[in-house]
Amino acid sequence: MKLILLGAPGAGKGTQAELLSRKLNIPTISTGNILRQAVKDGTEVGVRVKAFMDEGTLVPDEIVLDILKERLAEPDCKEGYILDGVPRNLFQAEALEHDRIDLDAVLSFEISDEVIEKRMTGRRSCTQCGASYHVTNKPPKQEGVCDTCGSALIQRSDDALETVRHRLEVFHAQTEPLKSFYGARGLLKAIENQPTIEATTEVVYKTLGI
Ligand code: AMP
Repeated sequence: MKLILLGAPGAGKGTQAELLSRKLNIPTISTGNILRQAVKDGTEVGVRVKAFMDEGTLVPDEIVLDILKERLAEPDCKEGYILDGVPRNLFQAEALEHDRIDLDAVLSFEISDEVIEKRMTGRRSCTQCGASYHVTNKPPKQEGVCDTCGSALIQRSDDALETVRHRLEVFHAQTEPLKSFYGARGLLKAIENQPTIEATTEVVYKTLGI
């Protein structure tokens, strides 16, 4: 199965992607996680993208598309994958279409800006494996420690309130138009925000018929 998860930053895409990955036994490809790792490792790409990421602006398309192309060529992507946070604008969506990527569905996570702002201030992520947690909605078993790999959890610098607001503006201006792009292709499935992660997962599975 080939899926795209679309939604504002903090809409819950990453959490649902992890659950879907396990259920379907296909990898999640998060360009955000790959780029954060590059920044951390101080690679050439990392150095180029750091300033964009710190201010919550999209990094240049050619960098993201190169990273994605390389990742999709790996053997674990043969049976399908979940794209989390990519495509992020019409240029990227058209590039994927040009590469004839046969999508099964595009899930659009619908949620208000107000809920997002509250949610993101509590978000924590693993410095090593990228797993995501929330201080109240999805706490790790031990505070500050990743359940999966035991590494330290941190608040991302781009989860600060002012940056979150800017990222929401970028989402509305550049990513939200993808809803009509994929709607016109009959691929868009809206996932309304639910009170819990489990309830959202249930809606996701039902929508995909899995
Ligand atoms: P995310 O974790 O998906 O919210 O991504 C964090 C940051 O990485 C974004 O604010 C962008 O600066 C950058 N980024 C991630 N994915 C993309 C993408 N597909 N296109 C452009 N920038 C991206």
